[in-house]
Amino acid sequence: MLITDQKEQLLPLLKTHFGYDSFRPNQLDVIHHVLEKKDVLTIMPTGGGKSLCFQLPALAMEGTAIVISPLIALMKDQVDVLQANGIAAAYYNSSQPTEVQQEIFQQLQKGELKLFYVAPESIAQFDTVFQNLQISLFAVDEAHCISSWGHDFRPAYTQLGSLKTRFPDAPVIALTATADKATQDDIVEQLSIDTAERHLASFNRPNLYLEVRPGQERIKQILNFLDGRSDESGIIYCLSRKNTEMLAEKLRNSGYDAKAYHAGMDAQLRTSVQEDFINDRTPIICATIAFGMGIDKSNVRWVIHYNLPKNLEGYYQEIGRSGRDSLAAHTLLFYSYADVVQLRKFIAGSANAEVQSAKLERMQQYAEALSCRRIALLNYFGEHVTQGCGNCDICKAPPSYFDATVITQKICSAVVRMKEQEPMGILIDVLRGAQNAQVFERNLQHIKTYGAIKDVSWQDLQQYIIQLLNQGVLDINFRENSSIGLTPLGKEILFDKKPVQLAILNVVEKQVEKKTRTRSEKKGLFEKLRVLRYQIAKEQGVPAYVVFGDASLKDMEAKQPLNISEFAEVSGVGAAKLEKYADAFLKEIKAHVETTKPKVPTHEVTWGLFKEGLSPKEIAQNRELTENTIYSHLLKMHAQGEEIDLNELVTKEELSKIEQAKIDLPEADGLKAYFEYFEEKVPYWKIKIGLYLLDE
Ligand code: ADP
Ligand code: MG
Ligand code: ZN
Repeated sequence: MLITDQKEQLLPLLKTHFGYDSFRPNQLDVIHHVLEKKDVLTIMPTGGGKSLCFQLPALAMEGTAIVISPLIALMKDQVDVLQANGIAAAYYNSSQPTEVQQEIFQQLQKGELKLFYVAPESIAQFDTVFQNLQISLFAVDEAHCISSWGHDFRPAYTQLGSLKTRFPDAPVIALTATADKATQDDIVEQLSIDTAERHLASFNRPNLYLEVRPGQERIKQILNFLDGRSDESGIIYCLSRKNTEMLAEKLRNSGYDAKAYHAGMDAQLRTSVQEDFINDRTPIICATIAFGMGIDKSNVRWVIHYNLPKNLEGYYQEIGRSGRDSLAAHTLLFYSYADVVQLRKFIAGSANAEVQSAKLERMQQYAEALSCRRIALLNYFGEHVTQGCGNCDICKAPPSYFDATVITQKICSAVVRMKEQEPMGILIDVLRGAQNAQVFERNLQHIKTYGAIKDVSWQDLQQYIIQLLNQGVLDINFRENSSIGLTPLGKEILFDKKPVQLAILNVVEKQVEKKTRTRSEKKGLFEKLRVLRYQIAKEQGVPAYVVFGDASLKDMEAKQPLNISEFAEVSGVGAAKLEKYADAFLKEIKAHVETTKPKVPTHEVTWGLFKEGLSPKEIAQNRELTENTIYSHLLKMHAQGEEIDLNELVTKEELSKIEQAKIDLPEADGLKAYFEYFEEKVPYWKIKIGLYLLDE
C-alpha cells in the first residue's frame, strides 16, 4: 500500500539510505510513476542512475521488490552496495551453497527483504513463494535482454511476459540503456506492459571527444596518441583475445604500463588486472568488451577502439566508461573495412543475424559520417538534435556543404510514397528509376518520385541517404524489413520546406588534430582517500566502490569535512555509511588538512585569537602555551605596527619600578636579572613589555 505523504519523504529517504541530496534528471518522474503503481520503461545511458529508480520505491513501499537481472556480477554488485547502505537485500543464484540458498528462501518467505535479486532462469522456482508474498514491484534490469531485436538477447527473459498477468497489482519497471525504438517497442510488448510510460533521459555526454580514423598503421597511431598521456588511465578495446595480448606487449615494449584483459584469462588474474586499473596501478588496459561492466572509475581519460564495434549500443557504452567525472575525455575509433568483413562473418552464424547486420551497418555509417558524429549518435538513440556539437572530429574539421533541400525533399517524398515500408536499396533504385525486378514486383515504377534523382550515382545517393540518417532526417526500422522512415525533422523538410545541407562528397582530408590534453589530476587528498578506501574494501572483502564511489571521494576532497555533521553532508554518505566510515575518513582528511594547510606564523595565530576578544590568559590555555609566550607574540605584533594598547597591560606604577630597575641594573643582560631583582614577583612578560615601552 502506498502511503500518500511518501512523496514528500523521498528526499529524506534518498539522503538517509543513499546519502544523496538530489535526484538526477528523470529519476524523480520514474519514481513517482512507480509509487502510483504504474508500469514504466526507463531508458538512461550507462551510469545514468537507473538502479535508484526501483531501489528507492522499494524502500518507500511495503513488501518486497523483485529485481530481475541477467548477470551474477551485476546482482552481487548491487546487493553489496545496498547492504553497505544498511538495506535488507539479497540475491539468489544456482551456484550458491545450499545453506545460503535456504536462508535466502526463508528471509524471502518471512518478508524480511526489501529487495530480492534473481536471474530470469531461476525465477520459476519462486512461483509459490511469490504467490504468498507481498510484492511491491518488479524491476526488470537490462530489459533489452528480452528482445531478440536487442544486442544481448537472453531467451530466459521471455518468461517474464507472464509476470504482469500473474501479479497484475505490482508495477513493472523495465530499465535499459538501449534506446532504439524497435527494442523499446519489443520490451513493452513482451512484458505485457503496453500502457507503460516511457522515460528517456538524455544520452548526451558532451565531455567525450569523438574521433574516427582510418585503421591503417594502428599501432603507430596509438603510440603517437599515447605520447604525453602515459600517466592517464585508458582502455583499448580489441575484437580478439589474441589482439589484446599482442597490443599490451607492444605497448610494454615501448615503455608503457599496459596489461591485457579478456574472458579467457583465469578469474584471479582478471580480478587483479581490473583492481590494478581501478586503483591506478596500471594505467592502460587492452581488453575485449568483457572488460568494464560495472566498473565505477571516474578518471578514465580515453578509450580507443582498435576494432570496429558490432553496434552503436556497444560502442556508446564502451566510450561511456571514459570521462565519468565530467572532465574532458578523448575517444578514438579505428575504422577498417576488414573489421566489417570479419564482423559480418560472426553475425552470419547467429540467431538474429538480420537485426545484427542492420545494426552493424549503422555502426559503419557512423564511422563514415560526414556530419557531426554526436548528432548521429544521439539521433540513433532517439534524441533528435540538430546543432553540431563542436567536440568531434567532424565539427573541428568540417567538410564543405551544399544546399541539399531539393534532393532531400525528393528522397523524403519517395519514402512517404512507399509508405515507409521499403529498405534503402529499393529507395535508391526507385529514386534513380531503376528498371529491375525488385521495383516492378512492387509496382513502384508508378509512384511520382520514380526516377526523380537520375543524375546521381548509386553510391553517392547512398552516401547522401546515410548523411540524412545521421542527421536524423530519416530512420531505419530494424523490426520491419529495415525499412526507411521519416522522422519529425524529415516531415518538416518535406512539408514546411526546412532547408538542409549535405556534405559534398569527395575524400575528406582529415587533419589529425592536436588534441586538447587534459592535465591529469593532481595527487592530493583524493588519492589518499582512494588508498584508504582500497584498504577498507580489502579488509571487508568488497569492491572499492561499495565503500564509496569516486564521486563521494571527490566530494570529500571538495568539502574537506572535519566533523561528523560535515561528513554527513558528503554526497553518498547515508546513515549506514556515516556510522561505518566517518571516523576513518575524517582522520585521513584531518591529517591531510594539517599537513597541507599553509603555515601561519605562531604569533599571528595568537593575534587572531586576541582580536577575537580572548584574553592573553585564555589564549595561553587554548593554545597550550605559557602566558609569557603569548605576550611576546603580542609584542611582536605591536612591533610590526598592529594596534595594541600596551599601557593597558603594564600600569604606570609598574613602569616606573621597571625604570628604576633599569638604573639599578646597568649591566643586566636579559630578563632574568630583572626577574630576580623583583624577587620573581613580576612576571617575565610584564618586564619585557615595560622595557619595550621604555625603549620606544
Ligand atoms: P546505471 O544502472 O544507469 O548504469 P547506476 O544505477 O549503476 O547506473 O548508477 C550509476 C552511479 O550513479 C552510481 O554510483 C550511483 O550511486 C550514482 N547515482 C545514482 N543516482 C544518484 C543521485 N541522485 N545522486 C548522486 N549519485 C547518484
Ligand atoms: Mg544498471
Ligand atoms: Zn560534432
